[in-house]
Amino acid sequence: MTRSGVKLNESTSIHVLASDLGIRLTVNPVGDIVALCHRKVEKFLVDLENCSKPSELLSLVANKLGTIFVEIRSDADLQQVVEEYVNRGELVFATLPDELTHEVFGITLKLVNRGRFDLPYVSIIDCRGPKASRVYFTKWHELGHLLILTDQRRFAFKRTHTLHEYKSPEESLVDVLAGEFAYYSPMVKPLATGEISFEAIEAIRDELCPDGSMTSAMIGITKAWPGPCLLIEAALAHKKAQGDSLQAMFGFITAPAPTLRAVNVMPNEAARRQGLQIFRNFRVPQGSIISRVFTGDSFHGEARENLNWWKASDGTQLPNMPILVRARRIRQSVHALVVPISAPR
Ligand SMILES: [Zn+2]
Repeated sequence: MTRSGVKLNESTSIHVLASDLGIRLTVNPVGDIVALCHRKVEKFLVDLENCSKPSELLSLVANKLGTIFVEIRSDADLQQVVEEYVNRGELVFATLPDELTHEVFGITLKLVNRGRFDLPYVSIIDCRGPKASRVYFTKWHELGHLLILTDQRRFAFKRTHTLHEYKSPEESLVDVLAGEFAYYSPMVKPLATGEISFEAIEAIRDELCPDGSMTSAMIGITKAWPGPCLLIEAALAHKKAQGDSLQAMFGFITAPAPTLRAVNVMPNEAARRQGLQIFRNFRVPQGSIISRVFTGDSFHGEARENLNWWKASDGTQLPNMPILVRARRIRQSVHALVVPISAPR
């Protein structure tokens, strides 16, 4: 999560995009583009008093950006949508069945034969099969594309996704934007009181947008939480150098068995300020509740631990900081919430 941010800031196409959007030369184009989009959304919100739910924000932003969502729930749905739009002279819709490959979750198309009451765009949201759990995020992803359209790009715009480019830097940037707005922090913050827990996150998700996936809720709500918290995903993985080793790849040496590591780590703003950080790919300490939940019979648990249990492969130890760790197993990985314990209770 954090690593891609660094890489994106070095991407030429992201720098070009930032400059097209009127952002001056910057070392942090991603942060600047995110801030610009926040200002746009704040302006939209002026028109809607009492917008308190992310789902309402979603409709508002879609409307302001000039698109409607068309949800595809089955192959028959898709056929019907294709026919309807092709009959209206929107021939490009005929390519949808081929373009909605298993990597593509949504496509925004610009109408060429717009009726008087039509908005300029249509965002097709694929909700079939496993894509169903990402519908809410996919909608924000498509809006993310429209948020970063410059006037010039708007003129040339035909569709958000062309084949084979779905993993471009711009796609990653749009995912960052989707994450920012899916759980819009001004809406999450009033509900984020007390101590963070899986139950608290679920309760906020249920209240704000029950159709969002649990993963996007965990990321978005942890980010918006006022108190310090680290969100960790632990899974079996190799040490970075081992994973990249050509020798291991070609089988010249026997690769060691993978160990339980923090494969994804996301500190929220308050954690970053307090210096609460565990680094990506660090090995999970054997005594940690995260290891115990991973190997044990119980699917969840919590324990008081210390940050200094975590060590890098070169022996570097993290600072002494009492922490509370809440862990929960989800399929082949463990999600953990780590918060500092400030005073003995
Ligand atoms: Zn996209």
